[in-house]
Amino acid sequence: MSRRLSSQLQRKFPEDVYCEKHLELVQSFCVDDQILLCGQCFHSQEHENHLVCGVQEAAGVYRKLFQEILNTLKEKLEVAKSILADEQERMVMIQGEEQDFKEMIESEYRIRFRLMVEEMNFRSLQDCIFNPKLREDHLNQVLAFATELKGQSQETLQRLNDLGKENMNKLKESEGRLSGHICSLQKMTVELEKKCGKYTLMVLQNAGSSLKRSESLLLQCLEQAQITDLSLCQVTGMSRMLKVLQRAVTLDPKTANPCLVLSEDLRSMHLRNVQQDVPHSPGRFVFSATVLGVESFTSGRHYWEVDVEKATKWQLGVSEDSASRHGDLPTTSGNKVLLMGSLMGTNYTFWAFPPLKRVSLRGEQMHKVGVFLDCESGQISFYDVANRSLICNFSSLTFQGALKPIFSLCIPSGVTNSDSLSICLPPVSSCDVTVSPQSSLA
Ligand SMILES: [Zn+2]
Ligand SMILES: [Zn+2]
Repeated sequence: MSRRLSSQLQRKFPEDVYCEKHLELVQSFCVDDQILLCGQCFHSQEHENHLVCGVQEAAGVYRKLFQEILNTLKEKLEVAKSILADEQERMVMIQGEEQDFKEMIESEYRIRFRLMVEEMNFRSLQDCIFNPKLREDHLNQVLAFATELKGQSQETLQRLNDLGKENMNKLKESEGRLSGHICSLQKMTVELEKKCGKYTLMVLQNAGSSLKRSESLLLQCLEQAQITDLSLCQVTGMSRMLKVLQRAVTLDPKTANPCLVLSEDLRSMHLRNVQQDVPHSPGRFVFSATVLGVESFTSGRHYWEVDVEKATKWQLGVSEDSASRHGDLPTTSGNKVLLMGSLMGTNYTFWAFPPLKRVSLRGEQMHKVGVFLDCESGQISFYDVANRSLICNFSSLTFQGALKPIFSLCIPSGVTNSDSLSICLPPVSSCDVTVSPQSSLA
């Protein structure tokens, strides 16, 4: 039998495979041990009770099995490559995000410093300080505040820097892990392709080991690195000076979209599901549920607060009031800077424009949004008033002409929508500000 099998092997399979132990040509395959057997092996005690089959039969089974594994390996290789590409893209992205965040923190502290100096001047003027001793005290206070602000700014930037590094390390680690995995998958693919090549016996050589290694490769999970959101470095606190700068903005009925109903005092707006008849006005918004403020700003610093609690989709910000603006016709819509909020279930998402980008925030609830405009430095900032923190800001903007507050809701599409926005009134006595190092940032 041994001779018959070996002569068969020699005829059908051009490759000669010898048993390493007995140096005889192999003839059969032990299914239990997943190895090729020569005549001596076959008759040995070791395989006495094992399931043994002919090489051709075994080769057929293993070829099919390896083909299947090969297909899965190739699929997994594609997945791994695409995750690797994502990780590499994220590395570039988080660097850009970190830079944006850094600029946001720096410009917020620049503004806080300016507001602080203004607050001090405001205090001095109010108190009519001509006393050199008091003036010196004020100067010392300014210096103390400046040091405090600088410390806070550096601390926030350091936190951002640490978080950025930590995230980058996680991504680099993930990149290394994925590259290694891709390399192993490629090696395994080459090995199995060779195995399933033209020589039948090849497929059975070290079949057990190949099977084990490819199975363990396929079992490995491919995961993206979990990185921490930069919103952890949110700038907290708000300048007290904002309360002094707070304006009693009113809504301009001549610009209101017909689906908006304005309150009598022109401080709030809500959606009406049926459009109302309104007199023609060249500045009226036709396509969006938008209205402008009556106030027009060309210089100085201004701040207003808007209650957004009763709106599920809103936009707030500042719009250029160009003379050529006719409603919201796309060609003459003018420049806008907006913060947009959208509530889906209990999840709030925020977007800022321009350019349109997602704002990541820790707080989920939004009650009041503060809008700060500094015409001279081209700064617009949005604050979460309840949480007393910065949402996002825009700096070094250039404006053409006067700027007006802008407010939008989402035009209802069939379903009843009772969204409303209202402008908050400034504190009664905006001059009643007490100054102490602790209270400059409440
Ligand atoms: Zn042998
Ligand atoms: Zn065996």
